[in-house]
Amino acid sequence: MVRTRFAPSPTGYLHVGGLRTALYNYLFAKQNNGKFVLRIEDTDQKRKVDGAVENLIESLNWSGIEADEGPVKQGDFGPYIQSERLELYKKHVDILLEKEHAYPCFCTRERLKKLKESQSDDSTQFGYDNHCRNLSRAEVMSKIKNGESYVVRLKTPLEGEVVIYDIVRGKVTFPNELLDDQVILKSDGFPTYHLANVVDDHLMEISHVIRGEEWLSSTPKHKLLYDYFGWKTPKFAHLPLLLNQDKSKLSKRQGDVAVEDYMEKGYLPEAIMNFLLLLGWNPGNNKEIFSLKEMVKSFSLKKVNKSGSIFNIEKLNWFNGQYIRSYDLDGLYKISAAYFPKNTNLSENEEKKILSLIQERLSTLQQIPKQAALILSDSIEYNKDALDYIRSESGMLVLKSLAKIISCEDELHSSNFFQIIKKVQAETLVKGKQLWMIVRVGLTGEIHGPEINKIAELLGKEKCLARINQAIKNG
Ligand code: GLU
Repeated sequence: MVRTRFAPSPTGYLHVGGLRTALYNYLFAKQNNGKFVLRIEDTDQKRKVDGAVENLIESLNWSGIEADEGPVKQGDFGPYIQSERLELYKKHVDILLEKEHAYPCFCTRERLKKLKESQSDDSTQFGYDNHCRNLSRAEVMSKIKNGESYVVRLKTPLEGEVVIYDIVRGKVTFPNELLDDQVILKSDGFPTYHLANVVDDHLMEISHVIRGEEWLSSTPKHKLLYDYFGWKTPKFAHLPLLLNQDKSKLSKRQGDVAVEDYMEKGYLPEAIMNFLLLLGWNPGNNKEIFSLKEMVKSFSLKKVNKSGSIFNIEKLNWFNGQYIRSYDLDGLYKISAAYFPKNTNLSENEEKKILSLIQERLSTLQQIPKQAALILSDSIEYNKDALDYIRSESGMLVLKSLAKIISCEDELHSSNFFQIIKKVQAETLVKGKQLWMIVRVGLTGEIHGPEINKIAELLGKEKCLARINQAIKNG
């Protein structure tokens, strides 16, 4: 049975890279009729942030990939929050101590600090110097009796190598001499990531560990733990890093990395997931749009790239635009009503009309107020190119004629608007693109935009006249 897991630490928010990891785990489990597990790794109490677990779960729910087992939907392998499993870790540390694969270390913080300082200019030496590795049983007992605080360290082999077969990277070899005697139990009784992760992956019967490349260097320590316990090692797949445009590791400084930021800005979950799917994997053809079902069918863990993937926000915007346009008006309104400016007296119908006009132009829902302002705003700002149109001689002619003709109409409709423009053309002899651009700039202040006759209808006679008069003043 394939069982995968997503094992985030609740340090604040769900990172987009984390969401991609979750997605790949989900897809691999689903395509193998397996289970996708959510486990919260909160053993580092210093990094824990209040509300972070709820936030993680909310972001995952939003994304549409539901865990088969986890803190919300309990399964047979719970609890799914590591801080609720401390007894289990303690028990397993005792097994390692018993087998002498681990040892208590009494080194003080000061000693370790000094050690670090002494190593900083000697690159051949690094890490813990195994000071407590060979303490006799009697020494250990007496220190414990004296109440000395201690951690437990893993005894890593001093020579030889650890070999791992990674589904994405193939065979990876780690010389043991580079491995530190890693702390597995801290003095506060909490396990470190390494121990808790391995114990849980084993007890939760995880068959495939699919996680970010940053964990690859931890994998030899994990492999040692599996071997020391006499457990079967799961299969590993380490996913490529997500990168900024300049190929550095994706960072907050260069853009948003929290899924919640994208939620707020009006990105649709379908778009984010589709975008993340293709950051690290491609179908080998030109297909770009994938529903979750199609993803499950097509995704291949073996074909995940080894090299990092650039997080290209323009591409994400493109996907988001595609999905926004795939909705019918009612569906789109349902998810975007909250983005309309609050201080208007627009009815739902009017908002829908506006939405139908701007749907084509949106790449995020957060752009709705700005796009809607084209239609709603009382005063218009003209950019330089737009002004050139109305400041020309024909600009003034057209605007004045337009104002005169509109004021004679009872009402403005998108259908009678063409007749009006024909009359303006006959009167001014300005025609074609030049004529339409002047009208557009006069009514919206912009060179581009939705169909101008529909905008005119939405604005209504009075607002159209007010805008044309404003344009005349600016001309
Ligand atoms: N808790 C680790 C994290 O925050 C999990 C790494 C793993 O999947 O093993 O990403």
